Amino acid sequence: MVKISDERLDEFIELSTEKNIEYKDRQEAYEAANNLVGFFELLHKIDHQEQMRKRRLENEPNGFPIEGSGRNCRLCRQSVQEDMWYDKYGMKCLDCQKAVDEGDVPVEIFDDEDSYITSDELSCKHGIRHQTIKKHIHTGELLPSYIRGNRKLTILIRKENPNLDQILSLK
Ligand SMILES: [Zn+2]
Repeated sequence: MVKISDERLDEFIELSTEKNIEYKDRQEAYEAANNLVGFFELLHKIDHQEQMRKRRLENEPNGFPIEGSGRNCRLCRQSVQEDMWYDKYGMKCLDCQKAVDEGDVPVEIFDDEDSYITSDELSCKHGIRHQTIKKHIHTGELLPSYIRGNRKLTILIRKENPNLDQILSLK
């Protein structure tokens, strides 16, 4: 916990009031301010770790392993507990890393996170069943890229699937 001076707390309460945020007493305002400080400390820590990793890449341009500990894979966007791989495209689970290394997915997709959609996202966010996706793949209307290994995931790259939006709207 960081010590917030009375003076700083007064400023915090004043700024909050300007934003129409009221606290029932100084204690509540103090806790809110403290949470905010904690939040920024966390952001700073995350940023610092990212800077350290970037610096390490200068000596290890092909990347290096990092602990998953629940971080999200940059490609399949799933939470990963086991080891991951970090390189200039970010953190990836080992299955996704393999798909990148073997050229199953083009690295351009890292330029824009909307440039592709995973089969999981299609079923969770758009309510499209896996069976339906498979059917469209079978008929050749959708051209999939595959993440193999334990995760077994289908990725649909928008550029390679001009029909995607139409199929999404039909369901
Ligand atoms: Zn992944």
